[in-house]
Amino acid sequence: MNKDYLLGKFDPAKHPDFVSVGKPYSDKPGMMLRKEAFEAFKKMWESAQKAGISLKIISSTRTFDQQKNIWEGKWNRFAQEAPAPKNRALKILEFSSMPGSSRHHWGTDIDLNDLNNPAFEPGGKHEKVYEWLAAHAQEFGFCQPYTAGRPHGYHEEKWHWSYTPLSKSFLAQYKSGVTDADIQGFLGSNLAGEIGAVKHYVLGINQDCAE
Ligand SMILES: [Zn+2]
Repeated sequence: MNKDYLLGKFDPAKHPDFVSVGKPYSDKPGMMLRKEAFEAFKKMWESAQKAGISLKIISSTRTFDQQKNIWEGKWNRFAQEAPAPKNRALKILEFSSMPGSSRHHWGTDIDLNDLNNPAFEPGGKHEKVYEWLAAHAQEFGFCQPYTAGRPHGYHEEKWHWSYTPLSKSFLAQYKSGVTDADIQGFLGSNLAGEIGAVKHYVLGINQDCAE
């Protein structure tokens, strides 16, 4: 895999290994995933359906440019709340990746149902969804990279799941081929090294999803 791929600098719509998601798996148009990841998701979706659980993909592959829009949107919105650049970057990094360092670049990772942890917790509208995923996602190759209680990296994300038969390999390639100096080209990107974007964020995941 070349470095540009790992950094999200390619067009999934023109990549031969990507397919469109579509209904009933997602209500949003334009979603794409690696073919094997989508095939595995469809099996998981069917199995969940039989258990009365409805899975919806609300975000899938995002390119460097799409992540840059998300990042710079927050960079500007958080300007007053966190005027010091490093604090601002750390605030964004609670839940959003620096462009070039998102697992969503790889076509293996998805956000399901809701971008809000309490929705998946007891009393939340997706409580049963999370219970089911925690018990069964691994049977289909999916793992939750951002669990609670890790020493570094993003906060917990109960909605983010990764197809590890592919993403473990991409992560290993990222670890050996990408450095903080490659994380560049957006507002605040000069902080990638100081913050440890690769070490603490890309690699700071639930180790069950890494090895
Ligand atoms: Zn995500």
